[in-house]
Amino acid sequence: MNLPLITRAQEYNNKIAILVPRGGANATTEEAFTYWDLLHISSQIATVLLNDAEDLQEERVAFLVPPGFEYVATQWGIWRAGGIAVPLCISHPRPELEYVIINSGASIIVAHPNFEAILRPIAEAQNLRFILTSEPLPDHVSRLPELDITRRALILYTSGTTGKPKGVVTTHHNIQAQLTSLITAWEWTSDDRILHVLPLHHIHGIVNVLTCALWAGAECEIVSKFDAETVWRRIGDGDLTLFMAVPTIYVKLIAAWETASSDRQKSMSEGCAKMRLMVSGSAALPVQVLEKWQTISGHFLLERYGMTEIGMALSNPLHGQRLSGYVGKPLPQVEVRLVDENAELVPAGTPGEIQVKGPGVFLEYWQNPQATAKAFQDGWFCTGDIAVVENGNYRILGRMSVDIIKTGGYKVSALEIEEVLRSHPDIQECAVVGVADLEWGERVCAALVLQPQRELTLESFRSWAKERLAVYKVPTQILRVEELPRNAMGKVTKPTVVELFRA
Ligand code: AMP
Repeated sequence: MNLPLITRAQEYNNKIAILVPRGGANATTEEAFTYWDLLHISSQIATVLLNDAEDLQEERVAFLVPPGFEYVATQWGIWRAGGIAVPLCISHPRPELEYVIINSGASIIVAHPNFEAILRPIAEAQNLRFILTSEPLPDHVSRLPELDITRRALILYTSGTTGKPKGVVTTHHNIQAQLTSLITAWEWTSDDRILHVLPLHHIHGIVNVLTCALWAGAECEIVSKFDAETVWRRIGDGDLTLFMAVPTIYVKLIAAWETASSDRQKSMSEGCAKMRLMVSGSAALPVQVLEKWQTISGHFLLERYGMTEIGMALSNPLHGQRLSGYVGKPLPQVEVRLVDENAELVPAGTPGEIQVKGPGVFLEYWQNPQATAKAFQDGWFCTGDIAVVENGNYRILGRMSVDIIKTGGYKVSALEIEEVLRSHPDIQECAVVGVADLEWGERVCAALVLQPQRELTLESFRSWAKERLAVYKVPTQILRVEELPRNAMGKVTKPTVVELFRA
């Protein structure tokens, strides 16, 4: 059996699937790739990956390719060869890349030449097959394996409440449920054209934008790197129908709109007015941002709630009244409940943990049955987020763990960052917290107890940390303290640490 995503693409054939700026992010013309191009090139990539084998049989293929057509063709090539796609993050330093490659047990790395210097040594050290996207593709295409949709398709790494990120495994069936839910709820059609500005190692960019577009037979225009000017220029052209982003991106777009001339503001706003839907998610959308965006664009942003492990769960309606500060109701195919600490359902108006069930919920944490078992209660996935239902609509109140930080839409673990910081020769102890911030949602901040007679500037600290942690995990503010605030049990009291930064 062929994957339904592939069968559908065969029907769209000569329609445009992917558009990319010709010759770089600031280009004014675009290169277009059809569904046929995507099918053809991904089958050539699958042939290279298979290397005469019949089926990759869920081998993990880690790939690092900048956002664009090659990224999509590589991801589809991995799927069509029967492999599990493990997208790597372009801004990750070597230790983070190495962790994902080793933890996923990848046997092949596919890299764009820009990343050869960082990835080839890892492939050599781990004895992995290394393929550059610049290598010529074969003219002859192998017979590709028949794939059942219950196969594992994707591993996305996500931070949790314990140490290192965990690999969230979704099957083709899970992904299909996640995307068909959104296609129904937000009425995607093949006439849609979406501008893709999100990272491609995260569910938001991979499922909600890219794969929904390709399932629907729509056009997905991928910008290689978010830049407010480029995005506004494309919106101003007036030919996009959909836009999806995290709140931080809307904040940056608002800032760029505010500094534009009034003529330009007018054309920017007119471009927005031509779209049919603008969505915000992955972090709480501040009401001020929603209101400002409404005056600029005429759009009352549709806010939704979801998670790497479950896909999207709650959404404001496409038609009908959207409420600011609320994330709406369960999406199609998704069951949601709120429970107290004894796993008892809470009555309406009482806060509880969000738990989710449905075909879009992930299969397992990669090779971590203990963590997988712990994440479920009676078949319900425990999100660790707290919400309340008011007049039938869910309102997110926060997270159960202070150690999960959401910054610019990225989920990061305070514990993971602390572990790295403790390896700094000048740092004796540290506590990492998220401090509320209008632009970033939360800023990553670190209170540090230094070794005696040591000094540390923010600049030298950050450049040290950037070699070890993804840039969005690196604290933007540090505070030197004589000792960390602790409770009677000796546990660091994070809310007090947050207060130190607020002061
Ligand atoms: P991720 O797996 O990186 O997408 O992060 C999922 C987490 O982001 C959720 O568990 C929530 O804590 C948070 N999140 C996602 N959407 C929203 C939203 N609309 N409002 C508040 N928090 C959100």
